[in-house]
Amino acid sequence: MRTFIIILLAMLSVNLVHSQTHPPKNTEHFVIQYVIGENTEYQTPYYILRSESEYPKILIDAGIHGDEVAGIYACDTVMKYINIYEGCVGFIPMVNIQAFKQNVRGVGVDLNQVFPGDKNGKIYEERLAFEFMDFVKEFNPDYVINLHEAWTKFDENLYGKQKDKSFGQTFITNSETFSDYLVRSHLNTNKYIPNPEYKFRIQYFPFKANHSMDNIIDKLKIPSYTVETLRTLPLADRIKYHELCILTFIEECGVKFTYWK
Ligand SMILES: [Zn+2]
Repeated sequence: MRTFIIILLAMLSVNLVHSQTHPPKNTEHFVIQYVIGENTEYQTPYYILRSESEYPKILIDAGIHGDEVAGIYACDTVMKYINIYEGCVGFIPMVNIQAFKQNVRGVGVDLNQVFPGDKNGKIYEERLAFEFMDFVKEFNPDYVINLHEAWTKFDENLYGKQKDKSFGQTFITNSETFSDYLVRSHLNTNKYIPNPEYKFRIQYFPFKANHSMDNIIDKLKIPSYTVETLRTLPLADRIKYHELCILTFIEECGVKFTYWK
């Protein structure tokens, strides 16, 4: 497995068009750091990495489920090593920060079951969902990518029986026809995964009125996709997969960057 990671790393750095051999000392982007839910128990940071041009623009969120940690760590890695010279990338790595701190899916309730949220909700996750939606609307990206993890690897038979279940090693879409952006990102992610066992699949997941992704698409009219890694894999591998997916989605949306690694 270690060999695989090294190969993946090597392939990643060789193949990214603008890769370099040292970490960016002076980035071409500036960072805006602020919080959503200011002065609440769910206050959580976001980071906007912006070059001179505001678009193309993409938002990466992780930690909607607090115990799906690989995406959270991957955001941290990408923010450390990326240098953006055209476009803008937003990260909100620990959406349900309380759940992350307690290593649970949700504290009061599963955050991904209460979208679009409620400004005056009794449970904090309802208010957090509302503020998250507000933030996405304000930020107004071209795409939103949601990072998650699932316990079961995609399996044709299981999927045939249950379409509304999240499987690991998938890109989830709520459209039965796959967008060019999704297809391109999917192909270019899998290029770097030599083991066919762990290549990603595109999974159609029917519309759910209370999910974050569906609300972003339906209410805000912003295309959105969910990455699910397989949670039974070692954490280091899952972080690596999320890192690869983040970079591919960023690259495919047209943001120009260099990456040290
Ligand atoms: Zn999840």
